[in-house]
Amino acid sequence: SVKVRFCPSPTGTPHVGMVRTALFNWAYAKHTGGQFVFRIEDTDAARDSEESFGQVVEAMKWLGLDWDEGIDVGGPDGPYRQSQRGEIYQGVIDKLKAAGHIYESYSTNEEVEARHKAAGRDPKLGYDGYDRDLTPEQIAGFRAEGREPVWRVRMPAEDVTFTDLVRGEITFRAGTIPDYVVVRATGEPLYTLVNPVDDALMGITHVLRGEDLLSSTPRQVVLYEALKDIGVATATPEFGHLPYVMGAGNKKLSKRDPESNLFLHRDNGFIPEGMINYLGLLGWSIAPDRDIFSVKEFVDAFDIHDVLPNPARFDVKKATAINADHIRLLDVSDFRDRLVPYLQAAEVLPEEPSQAQLDVLDQAAPLVQTRMNLLGEAPGLLAFLFTPDAELAMAEDGLKTLKDSAPDVLASSIEVLAGVEDWTTDTLHSVLQAKLVDEMEIKPRLAFGPLRVAVSGRKVSPPLFESMEILGKESSLTRLRALA
Ligand code: GLU
Repeated sequence: SVKVRFCPSPTGTPHVGMVRTALFNWAYAKHTGGQFVFRIEDTDAARDSEESFGQVVEAMKWLGLDWDEGIDVGGPDGPYRQSQRGEIYQGVIDKLKAAGHIYESYSTNEEVEARHKAAGRDPKLGYDGYDRDLTPEQIAGFRAEGREPVWRVRMPAEDVTFTDLVRGEITFRAGTIPDYVVVRATGEPLYTLVNPVDDALMGITHVLRGEDLLSSTPRQVVLYEALKDIGVATATPEFGHLPYVMGAGNKKLSKRDPESNLFLHRDNGFIPEGMINYLGLLGWSIAPDRDIFSVKEFVDAFDIHDVLPNPARFDVKKATAINADHIRLLDVSDFRDRLVPYLQAAEVLPEEPSQAQLDVLDQAAPLVQTRMNLLGEAPGLLAFLFTPDAELAMAEDGLKTLKDSAPDVLASSIEVLAGVEDWTTDTLHSVLQAKLVDEMEIKPRLAFGPLRVAVSGRKVSPPLFESMEILGKESSLTRLRALA
């Protein structure tokens, strides 16, 4: 059965391309009833950080991408952090050396380049295989000079061909890939070795990863033959390379582009459902002319064979529109609960909201659910309901609306509203409609605009009469009087 893995290196904050890779692996495992392994490739002590490690785990949890084996949950082939697997790698290296699949190499880059130059070749051609067949005397000589060797894989003299699950058959011509280093002179193994070794030991059947790693695949395909020979691997996995994710200006989205940062989108108010839906469209589609789907629909339909190789564009606008659809699909109580952290982050609500505040939020949530694209819009839309009357600030656009309008509107409204006993949306609507529009013949926009600004401080707010009902009579009148 299918076993896939997500194995990021913990550097920097999680970016959307990396998360798309996690998502496609997860979905493929779920779709096939297979298993999903979460491993951390932290062999680069200089670049990896615990902070970044924590953020990757946080990203997975936020999106709800659970794993069967790996970090935190353990499993039969642990540990799942490469920094803790040194002995395992050493054992494999010893076997590869003994079987002659890797050889010691003393050439420096300068020496390789000098040899290419002397032979009239491009000096940047890469390693030339010079150390393949060193004699014991030559080796002794290098050692006597105090040199420590790196260890290289012997590339075969044939073409390397494999069938990529996304792009079909790919061939790398014989002689185009130099014998590459798998163990540093310090004895440390490199990504080129530990990644396939772990995939082999963990029984990974499908390697689904970004296109940027396509060039390492022929090397790994070759290494697998050696790993099979020494009994570390039983089969070569299938490979599928996911298309590049492009940003603005059709350039590859880089870690440095702010919109590549997953947490930026979360903090702006993407919900996991919206983010998963949008990431699902980066290289895959559920059906022509259909953009919106649930996580379950995604898992049910997703197949790696349907991923397209063309670069995918990360378009924040489109992603936001999709998120808006998912916000509308939430149960209103679920929606309300998800607003709370955003309101707290903006200090509209305290850490421990009172029951009265939660009641207001209960009433307000259905009014704004269809008006928001991002949960981060909640503080702007709802703060007026939680602000003491005396502290209500007027937004720029609000002040302008007030200036255009007749003070009559406010004065007349205060007059009729003072007599209203049944302070409900319907009554408020009919009383104000009768007074301002029918009797005074003011256009609805000019009649209700100033009222909206007076109660909310803004030109754009949740519906007016509903808002006034939530605020209550006393607070509403206080706000109108403050501007009259
Ligand atoms: N640690 C590698 C990376 O983050 C994973 C490569 C792979 O999936 O094989 O790029």
